[in-house]
Amino acid sequence: MANLHSAPLSFCVLGAGISGLSSAYCLAKNYPSSRVTVVYEEGTPNTTSNHGFGILSLRSLDELDSADTSRFTKATASHFANIISQSPQLAAEIGLSAMPAYLTYDRKQGSPEQDVFPGGPTMDTFAYFMKISEHEKSSLGIDSDGLKYIFERDDIEPSDLVVYKAGTWVIDNHSYLPWLKKELELMAARGDISSVNFIQRRVSSFSELLKLEDFHFIVNCSGLGSEYLVPDGNMIPIRGQYLLVKPSATTDLRYGGHTFICPKPGRVALGSVYQKGRRETSINHFDKEDILRRCCALNPQIRNSEIIGESVGIRPGRYGGPRVELDRQTLRSSRGNDSVPIIHNYGHGAKGILQHWGCALEVVKLAESLTSSKSKL
Ligand SMILES: Cc1cc2nc3c(=O)[nH]c(=O)nc-3n(C[C@H](O)[C@H](O)[C@H](O)COP(=O)(O)OP(=O)(O)OC[C@H]3O[C@@H](n4cnc5c(N)ncnc54)[C@H](O)[C@@H]3O)c2cc1C
Repeated sequence: MANLHSAPLSFCVLGAGISGLSSAYCLAKNYPSSRVTVVYEEGTPNTTSNHGFGILSLRSLDELDSADTSRFTKATASHFANIISQSPQLAAEIGLSAMPAYLTYDRKQGSPEQDVFPGGPTMDTFAYFMKISEHEKSSLGIDSDGLKYIFERDDIEPSDLVVYKAGTWVIDNHSYLPWLKKELELMAARGDISSVNFIQRRVSSFSELLKLEDFHFIVNCSGLGSEYLVPDGNMIPIRGQYLLVKPSATTDLRYGGHTFICPKPGRVALGSVYQKGRRETSINHFDKEDILRRCCALNPQIRNSEIIGESVGIRPGRYGGPRVELDRQTLRSSRGNDSVPIIHNYGHGAKGILQHWGCALEVVKLAESLTSSKSKL
């Protein structure tokens, strides 16, 4: 492998979604004077990350999670909490809001205490977390008749419902991704790093990247692209459809199962579906009606909202959870016998936003194991 001490570090990040830009940002902060290249087919606002609702939500762990999901999520939560408390101005700039979320559970199918927390994101991921009173529950107006659609159970009773209020964070990637890109450009302009180069191009192999430059390492943040680039047979597309409606002053953040109502600046996102193995991006009318019916059950006020958009995003799922690890085998550099390591950071499924900061810090740690420098982050 190349001697990484002797030359200014030069690395390439493949992908400009939230994983790619946050990895590039953290690496650039950690390695002053490095040369940074970001290669991507689609940038903001056209990445899967732009479809993400951006909720740091509490979700049951499943076969698409890893043992590190909790650690990565907590790192993101504490990063967001710090920004909110230390710099409200920065929070506004990057589209980060702290807000209460109402989490609805079907007691018979599980509750956070029973089956979500063991090994998973725990209550301390949130600013606060409490079961709400029956009075507050009824004031939310949740339509118990409609809940059968959310929890796919016909015999659900109001008493089966448990509702928690949690202090969480929502990031708007339409602000955050451009901010990360701009920060990298500012770091280069200030001389904090040697250069940053954004190249919009689809590549069909990692070795194609080495035609641009003999990078010391590559960071693979290609999301679903890793299905064929790695290639990784554990990857699975997961289709998500959603609607955007005009905001109203009273719309709050609520979710239960795969049903989400998420206020964002200038719009409210309503979703979603979680269709494993499907990747068609056209709007499905049946899904749209189903989403509206479920969201109206969670908050009947949604019924009168004006629809201002609808879209589909394909989540980059991976059995076994995201792959955030060093791969030393794959590539030969033109410098001779050097191998060019790849640091993978892909396959985050429905939880890429909530894990992104923890994953980016892990990428820095893996880079340090190549360069033997100590993290400055
Ligand atoms: C409807 C919906 C709602 C969601 N809500 C949430 C949420 O509330 N919270 C949460 O945590 N997660 C949520 N997610 C999931 C989240 O959006 C993803 O996990 C996350 O965006 C993945 O980010 P990424 O950067 O890894 O991938 P992407 O955003 O897909 O970025 C991949 C990048 O790699 C590039 N690329 C791929 N292949 C190539 C190639 N061959 N050549 C060049 N470039 C390539 C792409 O162009 C792109 O720039 C949601 C997803 C959807 C669809």
